[in-house]
Amino acid sequence: MFDWLIVGAGFAGSVLAERIANVRGERVLIIDRRDHVGGNAFDIYNEDGLLVHRYGPHIFHTNAQRIFSYLSRFTEWRPYEHRVLADINGQLLPIPINLDTVNKLYGLALTSGELEEFFQSRAEAIDPIRTSEDVVVARVGRDLYEKFFRGYTRKQWGLDPSQLDKAVTSRVPVRTNRDDRYFTDRFQAMPKQGYTAMFRRMLQHRKIQVLLQADYREIRTVIPHRRVVFTGPIDEFFSYRFGRLPYRSLRFEHMTKRQSQFQPVGVVNYPLDRDYTRITEYKHLTGQHHPWTALTYEYPTEKGDPYYPVPRAENQALYKKYEDLARAADDVWFVGRLATYRYYNMDQVVGQALATFDEIERQVPVAAGVPAIARKTGIRPGAESADSAS
Ligand code: FAD
Ligand code: UDP
Repeated sequence: MFDWLIVGAGFAGSVLAERIANVRGERVLIIDRRDHVGGNAFDIYNEDGLLVHRYGPHIFHTNAQRIFSYLSRFTEWRPYEHRVLADINGQLLPIPINLDTVNKLYGLALTSGELEEFFQSRAEAIDPIRTSEDVVVARVGRDLYEKFFRGYTRKQWGLDPSQLDKAVTSRVPVRTNRDDRYFTDRFQAMPKQGYTAMFRRMLQHRKIQVLLQADYREIRTVIPHRRVVFTGPIDEFFSYRFGRLPYRSLRFEHMTKRQSQFQPVGVVNYPLDRDYTRITEYKHLTGQHHPWTALTYEYPTEKGDPYYPVPRAENQALYKKYEDLARAADDVWFVGRLATYRYYNMDQVVGQALATFDEIERQVPVAAGVPAIARKTGIRPGAESADSAS
């Protein structure tokens, strides 16, 4: 009898498995229907010996010391600040839009102060700001919106930015200085030996058993367990009772190029043309030395594995119906990007999982038969919500 069955070995499931085994001393079975741990953050050396991310580029960044310290128990880090260029009619320009982006694009020599005036002269008065179109057009005007955001978003989501919540394009800031980093978080780094090695260390515990290529539907009645942590799609858990929640998918095209470098930065975005949204070159992220280089092209698709919840009001309303069912489900905890239908980054999922663990500690007595001595005092994160994590 397992005290916990954890469905999904990504960040949400692995953090909870680690905390439950290490702090509560309870027996955990963690399963995944894929043939590996790590969820979407899984990385692996390809057949040419280059470290690649099977599900697209994953760059770790957070403002939360607690989250960084927690993960630092399982990995060393390689400092890495992510930079992205956008291909605008063959010209590679920094995104997020900054002073250099505008000066290079329009052949100007504006100062930061002048750039603010430039934005104001082009910005459209929109009130209230509701959509992913509003938020950009109200800040930088229509031309920059159309060049950098409209096409990319239509490709990525299969929807016009006017049909998406403002939260989506708000992820990408606009700057009047020359800071060309994609993120400005306090901690920005890549796991030194990769994500998969970090996950293996998290799950290395005598109370944790890992079972791969196992689907919850098939094993839930076969393997005795007391409680469940579910990190898969919440609509699937409830057999799509209210209909399907939309998730956006991607097709990844991975390749090795027999040259040492392909592009000047880790990611180049293609907002205006091509069927793919971006090309990633992993050596920039991993710092790996190798005569060849590995790339991934991302092609957005309707069908396929669920990667992105789609932030718009009608989907949130449908999710709320499932959330009500989840609240009423005894002894099942829903955690992670798919189970809580939130467009969360890795650090936010870690924060959410740590907060859930605190909740479990408050609500669930440790299983009978676990000797008190088996309970270790690990780090005890406070009940800070995941949304304040990054
Ligand atoms: P997942 O990683 O999706 O793990 C859930 C696991 O559950 C999966 O492995 C799945 O196989 C398994 N599962 C589901 N249902 C079942 C079932 N019924 N039975 C058994 N197993 C099941 N975040 C960042 O912070 N920085 C980035 O740069 C970044 N880049 C990203 C790029 C892409 C292309 C994508 C798609 C996401 C990116 N993210 C990034 C987000 C990051 O991937 C997620 O925040 C994180 O991986 C979510 O972890 P999770 O555990 O909630 O879900
Ligand atoms: N986006 C865009 N152009 C860009 C980069 C981003 O239009 O060059 C929009 C797009 O809608 C994207 C969203 O901003 O989905 C969030 O971008 P982010 O890089 O955070 O996406 P992710 O890494 O999660 O795919």
